[in-house]
Amino acid sequence: MEELIEGASKLGIEFSARQVKQFELYYRELIEWNKRINLTAITDYSSVQTKHFLDSLTITLALPGEEMEEPGFDIIDIGTGAGFPGVPLKIVLPRPRLVLIEPTAKKTSFLHHLIRKLELEDVEVLNSRAEEAAHLLPYRERFSLVLSRAVALLPTLAELTLPFCRIGGRFVAQKKGEIGQEIGGAKRAIALLGGKLDHMKKIELSEFRDMRYLVVVDKISPTPSKYPRRSGLPRRRPIQEVNRHVA
Ligand code: SAM
Repeated sequence: MEELIEGASKLGIEFSARQVKQFELYYRELIEWNKRINLTAITDYSSVQTKHFLDSLTITLALPGEEMEEPGFDIIDIGTGAGFPGVPLKIVLPRPRLVLIEPTAKKTSFLHHLIRKLELEDVEVLNSRAEEAAHLLPYRERFSLVLSRAVALLPTLAELTLPFCRIGGRFVAQKKGEIGQEIGGAKRAIALLGGKLDHMKKIELSEFRDMRYLVVVDKISPTPSKYPRRSGLPRRRPIQEVNRHVA
């Protein structure tokens, strides 16, 4: 795990021996299960360390610091797949409760197995789409921090994530490439769902040659109860910007 250890140290993270072992085990289980179910296209030892583990840990650059130590601080990862970014984050920050949402049953089987193997505590795996889970009382507007990586474009993603976020909490999306247009196109969706764009944080690590950003959105008002709309609609018909016609 040399590459991960070196990359993480640039984020100010020093691993314990147990954490290094957990990442080793995570790698082995990911590769083993990937032979049977489609978890990831990234499989070589070096790439998993950087493109999955280290990339997930870049989230720490947007974490609210001391607030995370407070009782009741909790995290939800929407569309976590094989556990990214939620599980690497849980390995380095064991205290906050973590909920992983993933609609593909085979992936949630892997996640249950992984959580047991890594002996992670206070992790819940929920086999559901975000559109459904977000209307359930234990999940709606409850979480201090909502995460999501590689799930959808921002207008869709805002609808799939902000309903889970409590007022005063935040949503952090991991994004790649030119994101100006995507953000411009998501302003109305973010506002309608009760959010406010706080800032974008550029990831500057030599491990990544492409442009990577964290998009940080604060939850400032309640999400209207009709959101998220029924399954599939946030993706098929994302909330659009209003066209302003100049006379
Ligand atoms: N976040 C992981 C990562 O970065 O490796 C997985 C990314 S994968 C490209 C997208 C994941 O989002 C899939 O596992 C898929 O099942 C999940 N997903 C798609 N639509 C979703 C929805 N409406 N609610 C929750 N998860 C969803």
